[in-house]
Amino acid sequence: MSAKIIDGKAFAATVREKVAGHVAHIKQERGITPGLAVVLVGEDPASAVYVRNKGKQTVEVGMASFEHKLAADTSEEALLALIEQLNADPEVHGILVQLPLPAHLNSDLVINAIDPAKDVDGFHISNVGLLGTGQKSMVPCTPLGCLMMLRDHHGSLSGMDAVVVGRSNIVGKPMAQLLLGDSCTVTIAHSRTKDLAEVVRRADIVVAAVGRPEMIPGDWIKEGATVIDVGINRVPGDAGKTRLVGDVDYASASERAGAITPVPGGVGPMTIACLLANTVTACCRANGLPEPE
Ligand code: NDP
Repeated sequence: MSAKIIDGKAFAATVREKVAGHVAHIKQERGITPGLAVVLVGEDPASAVYVRNKGKQTVEVGMASFEHKLAADTSEEALLALIEQLNADPEVHGILVQLPLPAHLNSDLVINAIDPAKDVDGFHISNVGLLGTGQKSMVPCTPLGCLMMLRDHHGSLSGMDAVVVGRSNIVGKPMAQLLLGDSCTVTIAHSRTKDLAEVVRRADIVVAAVGRPEMIPGDWIKEGATVIDVGINRVPGDAGKTRLVGDVDYASASERAGAITPVPGGVGPMTIACLLANTVTACCRANGLPEPE
C-alpha cells in the first residue's frame, strides 16, 4: 500500500486565500487592516528565517506586519514594555513572541504578559485553560494546522485512536486537547513511555512531535493509519549539503500508512497559514465582526 500524501503546502495556500478574502472584506466594510506584530529577540538563524517568512506572508494576504527585532541582551523590562505597548496599540490585533527566547528572559512571564485576546500563538495561560476546558480560545498554530488536515482527510475523527508522541506545551499537549475535543481516544507518549513501538502500533492517527530525525520507523505504523509528522530535523545530505527530515521515516511509513504528511511541505506551511487565520479571528473578535469559520 502506498499512502496518500497530505499536501500541507497546497492546503496552506487555500487557507491563505480564504484569509486574504476575509482581510479584503474587513478592510472594505470597516476600514480596518488586521495587523500582526512579531517580536524577535536575538539572532538565532532559524528564528530569523521563520520571522521573515511570517512577515512576508502577512503582507501577502493584505495584513499589516510589524516586526520588532531586539538585541540578544535586551532586558526583561524592555521586552515587557514593548509588549505592553503592543497590547495597547489598536492597529495590532495579533502579537507573537518568537521562541525560544535567550536564556536570561523568562518565557512564561513574557508570554503571559501578552493580552490573551492578541495571543495568536495560543500560549498564554488563559488560552491554554480555555482550550483545556473546551471553551473559545486562541488555538496554537501548529496543532491547529494538524487538526485541519486530519479533519479534511477524515471528516469526523470521532472514536479514533490517536497517539501524540511528544508532550511539549507548544505542540504535543495542545494537539492532544484538540484531538480529545474531536472525540478521539488520545494517548500522549514521551521519552519515558514504555514500549513506544506498541503504543504507536495501536494508533489510527499518529502525530509525531519529538524533534528526533526519523525515529519512528514504518513498522510501528498500523496498516492504513494517518501519520502527521510535525518534526523538522536538519540532517547531513548529499555533497556536503543538509536536508530536512521529519520524526517519522517517511519512506517506510508511507508503505504502511493510509495517509501521511511529507517533510518539508506538510505541517510547516500550515503553521504559518494558521497564524494568519488566528490574526484575522483576533481582529474580528476585537471589532465585533463575525468570525471566519
Ligand atoms: P520539544 O523538544 O519541546 O518536545 C519534544 C517531546 O518529544 C518531549 O515531550 C519529549 O519527551 C519527547 N521525546 C524526546 N525523545 C523522545 C523519545 N525517544 N521517545 C518519545 N518521546 C520523546 O519539541 P517541540 O514540541 O517544540 O517540537 C517537536 C518537533 O516539532 C521539533 O522537531 C520541532 O522542530 C518541530 N516543530 C515543528 C513545527 C512546524 O511548524 N512544523 C512547529 C513547532 C515544532 P519528554 O517530555 O519526556 O522530554
